[in-house]
Amino acid sequence: SDWERHVTRSARRRSDSGMTVLVTGAAGFVGTHVSMALKRRGDGVLGLDNFNLYYEPTLKRNRQKELQKNGVFIVEGDLNDKPLLHKLFDVVAFTHVMHLAAQAGVRYAMQNPSSYIHSNIAGLVNLLEVCKSANPQPSIVWASSSSVYGLNSKVPFSEKDRTDQPASLYAATKKAGEEIAHTYNHIYGLSITGLRFFTVYGPWGRPDMAYFFFTRDILKGKVIKIYETADHGSVARDFTYIDDVVKGCLAALDTAKKSTGSGGKKKGPAQFRIFNLGNTAPVPVSELVNILEKLLKVKAKRLVLPMPRNGDVKFTHANISLAHRELGYRPTTDLETGLKKFVKWYFKYYKEEKKKISAW
Ligand code: NAD
Repeated sequence: SDWERHVTRSARRRSDSGMTVLVTGAAGFVGTHVSMALKRRGDGVLGLDNFNLYYEPTLKRNRQKELQKNGVFIVEGDLNDKPLLHKLFDVVAFTHVMHLAAQAGVRYAMQNPSSYIHSNIAGLVNLLEVCKSANPQPSIVWASSSSVYGLNSKVPFSEKDRTDQPASLYAATKKAGEEIAHTYNHIYGLSITGLRFFTVYGPWGRPDMAYFFFTRDILKGKVIKIYETADHGSVARDFTYIDDVVKGCLAALDTAKKSTGSGGKKKGPAQFRIFNLGNTAPVPVSELVNILEKLLKVKAKRLVLPMPRNGDVKFTHANISLAHRELGYRPTTDLETGLKKFVKWYFKYYKEEKKKISAW
């Protein structure tokens, strides 16, 4: 098949020097950036993605083209396809798995609960099953989420805080994922690191996220809805720029210990870590809109509404001292600087897309 020919040429040959990484969710927002960064520094990379239809399929295909131009190949397949996963591990001696594939989004879960179970629970278990029996056993770094802090009202969130009140099914599957990962670490000696991302944004981002559809709707002159808390307080997010998150992901891969395969019996327990990867500088959503107005040079039509009970939490704010200490993680991009890069990408991307469409 296509991917076998590809790995024979690249990933496989590289497997004895440095890292060889399977990046799941490689056609996704974070997956595209992480794959590119790994490739740039010379690691072996193979992507896996099922190209789900959660948002604009053309955006995923264009990310794929971008990766392909840079020599990263994506195998089209599902996490739940066990024979495919076994085959991938038979052909390539992956040292690491960067697991970013998931059904993302908080609100979508209300109408589509089963896709969260399929990808975030069943898919994760299937992947861990294959990793556990792979030889060598890879070290795993995977994406959890700030949403695990749920209705916890104590900010900033630190890793030891309670995570027993998820506010959405999405959050519940991420929390369950942490427990499942811990079990596989304990029983099968898999080295596992979970990263709790906080509202990641940037070029090639996700159209279902507020900064992205606000940009689109402000430019179209459409009314944008801004939610506030019941006591008229502002909803705030710890927006984290993609390049900062990528650095955190690479540091997590670089500091990951080898899986022991011993279930903690002979060679001591395998590594299990959880880190917040946030920006530790929450910004109210109304301020996000102010910045977008400034960058787009268009006044937004705002409609302020009380927050619906749709799974969103009021605010997020990461304590990142653990990631700083253990990973050297130090985000450097403030929201305005990051949004400037996003907006620049947005104009270029959609101009080219429009050109293509009018040429049909
Ligand atoms: P994304 O939706 O852009 O990327 C996820 C990719 O996984 C998609 O391309 C999708 O097609 C693929 N996928 C989904 N289910 C799959 C399956 N069963 N098999 C194979 N591929 C599958 O999302 P993203 O923003 O890049 O997020 C990456 C990870 O980070 C996800 O786990 C997400 O839950 C987590 N996360 C993201 C954010 C954020 O702000 N972007 C915040 C917290 C956590």
